[in-house]
Amino acid sequence: MAHLRAAGQRVGRAPDSVALLAVSKLQPAAAIRAVHAAGQQAFGENYVQEAIDKMAELTDLDLQWHLIGPLQSNKTRVVAEHFDWVHSVDRLKIAQRLSAQRPAGLAPLQICLQVNIDDEDSKSGCSLAELPALAEAVAALPGLRLRGLMVIPRPGNSAALHALAKTHADLLARLPALAQQPFDTLSMGMSDDLDEAVAAGSTLVRIGTAIFGARAPQAPSQPSSDA
Ligand SMILES: *Cc1c(COP(=O)(O)O)cnc(C)c1O
Repeated sequence: MAHLRAAGQRVGRAPDSVALLAVSKLQPAAAIRAVHAAGQQAFGENYVQEAIDKMAELTDLDLQWHLIGPLQSNKTRVVAEHFDWVHSVDRLKIAQRLSAQRPAGLAPLQICLQVNIDDEDSKSGCSLAELPALAEAVAALPGLRLRGLMVIPRPGNSAALHALAKTHADLLARLPALAQQPFDTLSMGMSDDLDEAVAAGSTLVRIGTAIFGARAPQAPSQPSSDA
């Protein structure tokens, strides 16, 4: 994506230091097929069942699947069996289930911890106070590899992007064992704050609208139970 390269060049980032995750939620499998044909391998999905349905339609392609939406404990098994990455882990119970349910024949599930930096109203993301203990515990789980942190800031809050980068560096200094995971990922930046996120040190931007165009306005309904 030329825009991503340009954003990196402006702030002196190496060309390959920012990975692109194409966020394909609410887009049909045919749209994923077209973007893959243009050279994209990594796709991000928010809704587990929608993602599983599309995976079944796209088994002929070599794709990497990232879950970026909220994950309830009754969905961990299917996620552990089908995804490569989960960016939205924010509590130990979910991480323990994913680790235990990751099939032995697959590589460890790559994990980012979602941090709630600036949104008191959101139930997603762990607090900064909870983060060190959560990171230490997740890093010890055999079926997972703790790769970094993820944030969804309030629109326009680029201070949260810098705060996440600092949090990532502080955590690595405090828990040097994380370097072995390797703890190398800052998952931040969406269509509207791509440039700010790259300037703040993002290593992985999650871009939907700017690649696929607008989504259908209505998200599919999600079960509210957390059995
Ligand atoms: C939908 C979504 C994106 C992509 O958003 P766009 O504004 O379409 O680029 C990125 N991250 C998360 C967590 C999302 O839910």
